[in-house]
Amino acid sequence: MKTYFEVKNLKINNQTFEGVPTVLDIDHIEIQRGKTYGIVGESGSGKTVLALSILGLLQCPPGEIESGEIVFEGENLLKTSNRYMEQSIRGKKIAMIFQDPMSTLNPVFTVGYQIIQVIRKNQRLSEKGAYKKAVEMIKTVKLPDAEDIMKKYPHQLSGGQRQRVIIAMALACGAELIIADEPTRNLDVTIQASILKTLKELQKKFHVTILFIANNLSLVSTFCDELAILYKGKIIEHGRVRDVLRNPQHDYTKLLIRSITKDTLSKDKRKESKEVLLEVKELKKYFPVKKKFSKKEGVWVKAVDEVDLTIHKGEVVGIVGESGCGKSTLVNTILNLHQPTGGQVIFDGNNMFTLKKNELRKVRKDIQIVFQDPYWSLNPRWLVKDIVAEPIKVHRNLDEKSLLKRIEELLEMVGLPKEAAFKYPHEFSGGQRQRIAIARSLAVNPKLVVLDEPTSSIDVLSQAQILDLLDDLRERLELTNILISHDLSVVNYMSDRIIIMYLGKIVEYGRSVEVFKNPLHPYTQALFNSIPDIEKEGVESLATIEGNVPSAINPPLGCRFHTRCPKVMEICKEQLPEMKCIENDHYAACFLLTKEELGKKEVYLDINKSHKDKS
Ligand code: SF4
Repeated sequence: MKTYFEVKNLKINNQTFEGVPTVLDIDHIEIQRGKTYGIVGESGSGKTVLALSILGLLQCPPGEIESGEIVFEGENLLKTSNRYMEQSIRGKKIAMIFQDPMSTLNPVFTVGYQIIQVIRKNQRLSEKGAYKKAVEMIKTVKLPDAEDIMKKYPHQLSGGQRQRVIIAMALACGAELIIADEPTRNLDVTIQASILKTLKELQKKFHVTILFIANNLSLVSTFCDELAILYKGKIIEHGRVRDVLRNPQHDYTKLLIRSITKDTLSKDKRKESKEVLLEVKELKKYFPVKKKFSKKEGVWVKAVDEVDLTIHKGEVVGIVGESGCGKSTLVNTILNLHQPTGGQVIFDGNNMFTLKKNELRKVRKDIQIVFQDPYWSLNPRWLVKDIVAEPIKVHRNLDEKSLLKRIEELLEMVGLPKEAAFKYPHEFSGGQRQRIAIARSLAVNPKLVVLDEPTSSIDVLSQAQILDLLDDLRERLELTNILISHDLSVVNYMSDRIIIMYLGKIVEYGRSVEVFKNPLHPYTQALFNSIPDIEKEGVESLATIEGNVPSAINPPLGCRFHTRCPKVMEICKEQLPEMKCIENDHYAACFLLTKEELGKKEVYLDINKSHKDKS
């Protein structure tokens, strides 16, 4: 049988001022038609170089293809001309789905126009025929109101919808091989699950082969048939997903598997304090909708709506929810970075909203933030010593010598050599940059450190190291942490307590062990079930939540989750369920969780049945 796709002895170098290092050195990859082949590796391991070489898009120089073959349907693509690739291969036979759909879509043209252009470039269709085909493809990728979507600009769609448009474009021209380069990296787990399911369905329908690039082993175990581990440009292990994951041979593969199957931290050893550090009462943050965007007066985006929470000293509290659920707005309002609409925040005995400017400045010293992306949060023109020194200069008056000593002490604390002080951020890897950001946040001995998605922009291995470092620092410096993340495994690993938010409201909270063992709210259950698990194979193992998160402008009446809840009842559409303690400090707000309902399991089942019957 003729091999469908093959890479043989491919060696690619990269010309730099320091020399010509080899960035990719692959002996052999073979993919059969209709299969899904996963490539897993850290950033810089050569995954994207491989994808670009297949499409003939690798920039040479600085790239330099020293030797090898990329054979697609019996033809060595490296021997073909750019014109041939442009006219016969790219888009027509091989298409690519990039990580960030915003960088693929042109922001100044409507989505419909862009799909039509792609179709007309690759197929001989009239304007009308291409329009019809575009609408059909939008329906195929399960976007609602196809005609309406055609008229929208990319910024008017959500991240998941944009990624579906890209899939529609890839399939519209009949591509047989799709290279998906971390297509769900920036999406919520629930959206990720539904995109992966759609992609799998379409793969079967259109008999497409997928080369799936990822840095997440769980994702590959759920989505792919075969797997290759790429490390420093070389494939160090490959085979059927099940074989590689159950019986890894290479130390690096074992390390990767260990880093994601790591148990939660032994939090039992943590001292439980009764002392309250932060108390939030009925906090509200509404943003007014400008007149030009709404015909009605007094329209508000209810980003945070009557939130109560208490954080004790030394605790790690995780806040979880899909994008737009209000987690970041909640933290920014607590820090008084957003003017609150109502409610109170008491931090270490101070009412944050009644403090005078200079008092607030002093209190803010005790609260620091580590941001998500260490590539953006560090000034690229400053030396590390100046970045770390900035908060110290604002709050303390140290002479040059003492300042440098403090900077070196902080760098050492986060596991960096003191020589790092005289380097620039670009000289460090993602994980090291995050260490610099952590050192800066600790510079003025804060009491509370907010960790806003601290590991989402870095590799799996660096993630594990950063989480261990954060836990170590929390213990040594007696810190309290608020951890915002959409990565539930990170939250489970680090947090003592967890808060689940949906559309501006807390729907469930409790000790993480309890919540992860026994999620009570239907939203939490769906959220947890949509996480890919290395132990499970096939996208069928992923649960999805139907529909999109409703707008926070005029959110649904009654329970805010009722428009997507598989267990919705009539009462849910009219009344807001109260937050109730169900067991051992485990709280949830859902009508199914009243004492009567929990006492009568049969009634609970009946309710589900009657809902199914109705639908
Ligand atoms: Fe679902 Fe009703 Fe519970 Fe809301 S209150 S989560 S709609 S069952």
